[in-house]
Amino acid sequence: MAHRILAIDQGTSSSRTVIYDDSFAVLASAQQEFPQIYPQSGWVEHDPEAIWTSVQAVTRQSLRDASLAGGDISAIGITNQRETTLVWDRETGECIYNAIVWQDRRTADYCAELKHAGHETMVAAKTGLRLDPYFSATKLAWILDHVDGARARAAAGELAFGTVDCFLLWRLSGGERHCTDATNASRTMMFNIHTQEWDSELLELFDIPAALLPEVMDCAAEFGIANDECLGGNAPVLGVAGDQQAALIGQAGLEYGMTKSTYGTGCFVLANTGAAALQSEHQLLTTVAMRLRGEVSYGLEGSVFVAGSAMQWLRDELRIIDAAPESEAIAERTGVVDDVVVVPAFAGLGAPYWDPTARGAILGMSRGSGRDAIVTATLQAIAYQTRDLMDAMADDGISPSVIRVDGGMVANNWFLQFLADILETPVERPTNVESTVLGAAYLAAFQAGHVSGPEQLTENWKLDVRYEPRMAESERNALLAGWHDAVRRVRTQE
Ligand code: ADP
Repeated sequence: MAHRILAIDQGTSSSRTVIYDDSFAVLASAQQEFPQIYPQSGWVEHDPEAIWTSVQAVTRQSLRDASLAGGDISAIGITNQRETTLVWDRETGECIYNAIVWQDRRTADYCAELKHAGHETMVAAKTGLRLDPYFSATKLAWILDHVDGARARAAAGELAFGTVDCFLLWRLSGGERHCTDATNASRTMMFNIHTQEWDSELLELFDIPAALLPEVMDCAAEFGIANDECLGGNAPVLGVAGDQQAALIGQAGLEYGMTKSTYGTGCFVLANTGAAALQSEHQLLTTVAMRLRGEVSYGLEGSVFVAGSAMQWLRDELRIIDAAPESEAIAERTGVVDDVVVVPAFAGLGAPYWDPTARGAILGMSRGSGRDAIVTATLQAIAYQTRDLMDAMADDGISPSVIRVDGGMVANNWFLQFLADILETPVERPTNVESTVLGAAYLAAFQAGHVSGPEQLTENWKLDVRYEPRMAESERNALLAGWHDAVRRVRTQE
């Protein structure tokens, strides 16, 4: 019988499904956006029902387009926006508050208090994370503190906590399953990445009742039977991973040292560090990259807040391009810009600087500098920031021999050549740049036994273009010096 795999990608701005055949060719796909809710400055929420109905809608649509029913699907894989926090009533399945999204900063003061009280070293040692609002624990504590009666109901076992994967598993299985996978658990700041268990000292610190927590499974496991009406039949969920980890798996980054960099709205670099959980000296995050057959591979992760969204800034705010792809032709005719430097620190600077109050700047303009220089320099800035992350990773002990890239920006060939030049490392773009959703499908296929083992995923990865570094060292050094000088000028904290 032909195998059909349904992969669900529940992202921050939209939900997607892709149906794959045996050889991971796409049979159908569907995508639907859903509203972002900004109740006040720094807060970001999603309506859990909007997440759910969008997942149902894209599931229905892709099944219809492929002329399949749920019963024809041999395995479902799920990947998701990470850290986003939901709490629901175990009886009714209704959430008691909106989903608090990873970008939400409402618990910044609480995190500062905990840091001030000296807890960060313990939290980092156990979770690999920084004590930051980004992660689920303080968002969950906030819900328990601000929804009437929530804490008592949580302690009595009436409520369930979950990240988005866990919420979808609950809904898809009609409330039968309350589970998550180790990659999503590793982003909650309640999970000890070394023991692979919820950590009682952390739960005590954040005052979280253990009764709220889901079971933590491998990424390829029996996550339950999805029997929701949107499927029109039953199908097993067999794979789950958070979005960046799924992208690493989709890039077949299964071995020590393999590294992927995703260029979407932001940029996320994730390196597979195998059995070693490297503690970063440069504020990178240590996380679970994947857990298969009980074996954990750790990862080192760094991110740049603004990547593709800088193209949107050029388009929507400066209005000097009509669409992001135009940047490629502009950079091609302009060539590398060595005087103008754009620092797109619109939301502060992330690793390795961690300066949340820094802001953007355009430096080095002369009378003849114009739009082409600004557009090209903006592309260059994204490569420089990747270099800063890779330098931090190298200092922490991991220096990949090649970087695999994906995400919307990698359509830009000029950017990828410049990236290879600046990283002094070859950059590889696969034929299939939809790594995230593909990773979820791989996990499900792996558990279903459709693929013999990781080797088959490695074989399935096909190179589109490899960009070799070819810039002279003197030019690269001069450009990086100009970049670091510009960064120094926008920093507010040393
Ligand atoms: P996300 O998954 O975060 O929504 P995508 O992976 O879909 O993002 O990538 C979209 C981003 O890629 C947008 O911010 C867009 O500006 C950028 N982008 C798309 N095409 C190009 C291009 N040819 N050159 C540069 N940037 C691009």
